[in-house]
Amino acid sequence: MTRFDLVVAGGTVIDPASGLEDRRDVGISDGRIAAIEPHLSGGDAASVIDATGRYVVPGLVDLHVHVYPGVADLSVAPDPTCLGRGVTTAVDAGSVGANTWPGFRRWIVDPSRTRVLAFLNISLLGQVDTHLGELHDLRFADPERAVKVAVANPDAIVGFKVRLSGTLAGDNGLEGLRRGVWAGRATGLPVMSHIGGTRFDIEAALALMGSRDIVTHAFTGWNPGGIVSDAGRVLPGALDARARGVRFDVGHGAGSFSWATAEAALADGFLPDTISTDLHRFNIASPVGDLATTMSKFLHLGLPLPQVIAMTTSAPASSLGVPGRGLGRLEVGGEADLTVLAIEEERRDLLDALGVARTVDRHLVPTAVVRAGREVAIEPRVTEPPAGISPG
Ligand SMILES: [Zn+2]
Repeated sequence: MTRFDLVVAGGTVIDPASGLEDRRDVGISDGRIAAIEPHLSGGDAASVIDATGRYVVPGLVDLHVHVYPGVADLSVAPDPTCLGRGVTTAVDAGSVGANTWPGFRRWIVDPSRTRVLAFLNISLLGQVDTHLGELHDLRFADPERAVKVAVANPDAIVGFKVRLSGTLAGDNGLEGLRRGVWAGRATGLPVMSHIGGTRFDIEAALALMGSRDIVTHAFTGWNPGGIVSDAGRVLPGALDARARGVRFDVGHGAGSFSWATAEAALADGFLPDTISTDLHRFNIASPVGDLATTMSKFLHLGLPLPQVIAMTTSAPASSLGVPGRGLGRLEVGGEADLTVLAIEEERRDLLDALGVARTVDRHLVPTAVVRAGREVAIEPRVTEPPAGISPG
């Protein structure tokens, strides 16, 4: 009779929530972490993952993805692109709205092996079309119906999403955000606002946001509407927002991460709170790839590995505020979600969303992933843009 179903052996555990950074074996039984010890006997385990020379971290959390294929036309399927690339918890950021929620619950949240959560779009439609935005007609922005759906799904809906860009909202971005904030305050959930290319002063939007609300696309090069001025300084309104508890998320995307903006913000002392991909079918082959590649960009920008791990585990978990799941941390008794990462040392150009390259010499790569105690196969990185399910 073995003590453990699985032991992840020989790796360096980095668990930012507890501060542990040391060589440990992790024993797993019945889907939960049963032991984190300097040495567990492989003979006590039904199976072993050899993590020698690698990093064992809490299951990665990607705070911004799009995973509603067949409905939100930019989407990718969550299991191969998230879980298969080391992300055990993926948070859909606005692909789904109140009207399209039942299908998302039934066909995405419930059957996926990835733990899928969602920021519900304040528009009833969600993001059904890539080019025709969901806020051009404000009649779709119905906060009362969004609140009703969120209250009925507290295990899966973790906040509300509003996209503020002029191309997606016309002149309605600020009013859409007001309605999102109203829904957030009515439920105690955060609002995630998508910035870049706004038709109004971005500081007016930041002023509406409060503690635990999230700005995504924090390092967009798409101005006006970014948080870094043309002079390379972080706007006073962004500093004030951070002081009030607003969080700043990367949301790399196809148009929303600029090396130059990130370099300017970091030089100004302004780090992101969370690193996320905004993964969808128009960026998965390039420039995003996966969360580990996005993390590698922040290693290149000079952040230490434990801080990059914190920004993709404990920090996004605290933004989610879903109680009782042990998300984003490794603890005995908690659900056994963990990711094994290797660092490949090789000079490779990585592009930002503007097509600008930086030569990066350390690349994080997922080599094993465990979700709820079971090892899941790592999938190859997508290198060709996937076709959409929707026509066009
Ligand atoms: Zn997005």
